[in-house]
Amino acid sequence: MRIKFLGTGAAEGIPSFGCTCQRCRVARAEGGHNVRRRASLLIEAAGHRILLDTPPEISALLNQAEVFDLSAVLLSHEHFDHIGGLVEFEYWNRVLPIFAGYDVLPKLRLTPRLESRALLSGFYPHTWLHFGDLKVMPFKVIHHVPCYGFAFEETGTRVLHFSDSSPELGNLHRHLLAGADVAIFHTPTFEPYRSHISVQGVISLVQEYSLRRAVITHINHHNLLHEELVERVAPYGITVAYDGLTLEV
Ligand SMILES: [Zn+2]
Ligand SMILES: [Zn+2]
Ligand SMILES: [Zn+2]
Repeated sequence: MRIKFLGTGAAEGIPSFGCTCQRCRVARAEGGHNVRRRASLLIEAAGHRILLDTPPEISALLNQAEVFDLSAVLLSHEHFDHIGGLVEFEYWNRVLPIFAGYDVLPKLRLTPRLESRALLSGFYPHTWLHFGDLKVMPFKVIHHVPCYGFAFEETGTRVLHFSDSSPELGNLHRHLLAGADVAIFHTPTFEPYRSHISVQGVISLVQEYSLRRAVITHINHHNLLHEELVERVAPYGITVAYDGLTLEV
């Protein structure tokens, strides 16, 4: 399985427009891994390519990654940084299967042309979607609005994506974590803040569950600079995603 991180920024991305904080200034001046477009990733396995979430800059992200075909789009939840670019698929030139939770579907805004091209499907949590030998299971996470994480499995390899999740986990999450090869977490901030898991929270999870590999993404401008983050989490075996990072699992 291949995981491609297209964008790795949280709600506003980095640099955040209108912001002159030190991290946004560094991102503007130096570019590199401190620039983070909003979070989206590709899972490639079993001859399929699945896009997870459609941030507002999705057309630029797909162009840059030279992605010209998709098996499906999965949507985690209704927040703008995750679905704001869905309408860009107005200009996608073929039929597009789009999957979202039944409680997320009513929140999606489609243009008439996109509606005629989209194969819109609802899913319930804990039911498997099949793409050849790649299986995907949506599971609920705690967030301000209905939100889904996803378990991706192919020939004994399991990748977990927690989407925008609070640090409160249930037994199902713990069970999934125990057998995961990679667990991806959205960590806007380094220290706990509101209902998102933090970098510190992921460090605790890695220790508690002896996770084989954890990756953090969906990072905002209140977090540390990329190099500082790498320095702080590398001792725990945690990977800091950056725009364009590809992982083979
Ligand atoms: Zn978000
Ligand atoms: Zn800033
Ligand atoms: Zn959210």
